[in-house]
Amino acid sequence: MDQSIRDRYTVVIGLEVHAQLLTKSKIYNSDSAEYGSAPNTNISVITLAHPGTMPKLNKKAAELAMKMGLACHCAISRLQIFDRKNYFYPDLPKGYQLTQDRTPICKQGYVTISSGEGEKDIVLNRIHIEEDAGKSIHLEGEKDTLLDFNRSGVALIEIVTEPVIRSSEDAAAFLTEVRKLVRYLDICDGNMEEGSLRCDANVSVMRKESTEYGKKVEIKNMNSIRNVQRAIDHEAERQIALIERGEAIISETRTFDVNTGKSFGMRTKEELNDYRYFPDPDLSPMHVSEEWLNDIKAAMPLLPRQMYQKFVTEYQLPGYDAQVLTDTKEVALYFSEVGSFTKNYKAASNWVMGPIKSYLNEQKIEADAFPVKPETIADLIQLIDDGKINFTVASQRIFPELIKNPGKKPLEIAQQLNLIQDSSADSILPIVEQIINEFPAKVAEYKSGKKGIIGMFMGEVKKRSGGKADPKVANELLTKKLEE
Ligand code: ADP
Ligand code: MG
Repeated sequence: MDQSIRDRYTVVIGLEVHAQLLTKSKIYNSDSAEYGSAPNTNISVITLAHPGTMPKLNKKAAELAMKMGLACHCAISRLQIFDRKNYFYPDLPKGYQLTQDRTPICKQGYVTISSGEGEKDIVLNRIHIEEDAGKSIHLEGEKDTLLDFNRSGVALIEIVTEPVIRSSEDAAAFLTEVRKLVRYLDICDGNMEEGSLRCDANVSVMRKESTEYGKKVEIKNMNSIRNVQRAIDHEAERQIALIERGEAIISETRTFDVNTGKSFGMRTKEELNDYRYFPDPDLSPMHVSEEWLNDIKAAMPLLPRQMYQKFVTEYQLPGYDAQVLTDTKEVALYFSEVGSFTKNYKAASNWVMGPIKSYLNEQKIEADAFPVKPETIADLIQLIDDGKINFTVASQRIFPELIKNPGKKPLEIAQQLNLIQDSSADSILPIVEQIINEFPAKVAEYKSGKKGIIGMFMGEVKKRSGGKADPKVANELLTKKLEE
């Protein structure tokens, strides 16, 4: 589409993000919430809602939801009612979904994102608790649909933004931040491919000069942040093209095909059920006491933005370093720990961003599985700062050895491999004198002004000392002798 046509429109986006909570059991019974079990093994009469069964709320789910609310600066509702959302679908044996209609556990709040234009707060409407549905499975070549109810009743939170997002890039940045938050909080694994984090995007467009939102279309079924971004771009263009042709937008739910990059309609809003929400008579309302809320607040971990601030202000690191170091909770925690054993934060950052991250990427492991202890990395930094070894020796010789023998001390390895730098003038001076005697022509060149030749002398010192002469001391001695 012609950019000049696109530029006549504002794209309006509101996201609804579902996150599966990391509770061991389901939201109102003790069936396992584990992912990937054999079909229909994590079910009981309560999950299947047989008549006469009684649900009981899993308080852990409420706790995890409140953590997310606190991380997003929401107001926490003290009294909550759980509602039934009634509809028929094969993957919903009960005929209703447990959700929170009028009393979401968290209200308002915002998530700060980094966008191309700096930081922005994306305002939330709410975060509420609900239960997941089962799964319909359509096998290739089978005419029947199979149903797996393992997922029925798994605890979810739904994070709903106001329609305040104005570009697909910002939508992607929002999802990236939400994924980071749930992972830092350890409330959801954030895995979009497995569906533990899912996003529905509501998209509308309006003429730039308009003050009224256009009709929105909801897009479902995107299994990665990149695909959410693609789907929004595609949808915005589709709507603009329709309007430009004088056609009307229909409020509908569309599904995005990640292979073709196109979407197709599933159902129009007009056909939607009236859900007839009403409070679940089997679940009593939940009261959040001051004490409970305070306990949750006290147990809040440092979040990515707070870590970032700490690294920039307390550790005086460049913003770029702080960004990379807070990308995952595991790296941030590892780095923080190195930082508690050394004051040379920039060196610690270089180690984590350089050799350590390369190793993690190669091995495809997270920083919490990195074998070398943070204090050992601090010891290594100290050896360099004391002039006993240089960075090249540390990273190319000692570091690989440490990974093989994480229990060893860097100093021990340096001694065993005979890598300790010699910084005593007593042992370097004879080498320097010997070289100066052997190369009178070069010395003359130096004296005539070709100072660069000192590099050749340094190379000789390095060679003859077996690489152990401290370059700083060698340089001082050489300069002194050559100027004599
Ligand atoms: P519905 O009643 O259709 O469920 P809601 O008002 O509850 O609609 O909003 C659902 C989601 O749609 C929210 O994330 C909201 O921000 C978003 N939304 C609402 N109106 C628009 C719009 N005109 N354009 C884009 N997104 C919208
Ligand atoms: Mg709604």
